[in-house]
Amino acid sequence: FDDRDGMIWWDGALIPWRDAKLHVLSHGLHYASAVFEGERSYNGHIFKLREHTERLVESARILGFEIPFSMDVIDAACRQALEVNGLTDGYVRPLAWRGAEQLSVSAQQTKIHLMVAAWSWPNLFGDDRMKGVRLGMGSWKRPHPETAPIRAKAAGLYMIGTMSKHDAEARGFNDALMLDWRGQVSEATGANIFFAMDGALHTPIPDCFLDGITRRTVMALARKRGLQVIERVIMPDEMRAASEVFLAGSAAEVTPVREIDGLHFAPGPVTEMLLGDYEALVRMPPADVEARLAA
Ligand code: PMP
Repeated sequence: FDDRDGMIWWDGALIPWRDAKLHVLSHGLHYASAVFEGERSYNGHIFKLREHTERLVESARILGFEIPFSMDVIDAACRQALEVNGLTDGYVRPLAWRGAEQLSVSAQQTKIHLMVAAWSWPNLFGDDRMKGVRLGMGSWKRPHPETAPIRAKAAGLYMIGTMSKHDAEARGFNDALMLDWRGQVSEATGANIFFAMDGALHTPIPDCFLDGITRRTVMALARKRGLQVIERVIMPDEMRAASEVFLAGSAAEVTPVREIDGLHFAPGPVTEMLLGDYEALVRMPPADVEARLAA
């Protein structure tokens, strides 16, 4: 992925993609002092850009560092990363991390860096998306909020995601469904989860995983449609009562789920309606998005 044409925004400058390299003694690499975002641009507009930027800044604060760029500069960097690579529709990845000035658990002397890359990435699940993805039960659990910075989109939290996803892929699934430390249903490794059940939309309470921007968007769209949205504890054995299941995330967008480890679901009218509403919303000019979602 590093050997390709293009430009990457790095600490205020545009660097050729191949030259955007950092030192092996970077603190972010050794101790996961890194936070990131995943955003999508549609028709030349990054959907909910400011919310992503706010979450990036907040994620860094939770890890104890301040990104040395204003939110306006970060927003502009995201737009520039798309533009300079000739993209109107693409995926945007800002990352902030501690540098290589000091290598110990304590890292007070490190410089904070920020980069933004953008590339074309049609959907997290590629061609499998529209036929529905298959989830296997995850091999790791989402941690207790006192054991990990669960409100941050922190690189370190993705270690258990990658391990769980690899285990699920080895068993032939597209992704893992992760339970939390209590054994409750939480989310996939890079997207939140929804269940259509008893005429309502059910989703787990995000008390130990990311309360995604797409998750909140989908909840607003469902309510606009008069669909009741229920955030509640969902145990794995309740999933068989769902008529439909889907994932929601910036990279995953709205993706139907057709299987969870032996339980089969058919993408149906609720998923189709919300997938359509989401696809229409993300392609609206930003001002119209807010009007569409306003109560
Ligand atoms: N959970 C995890 C672990 C994720 O990586 C993501 C993607 N950022 C989400 C949920 C969905 O968040 P969002 O809708 O803000 O992209």
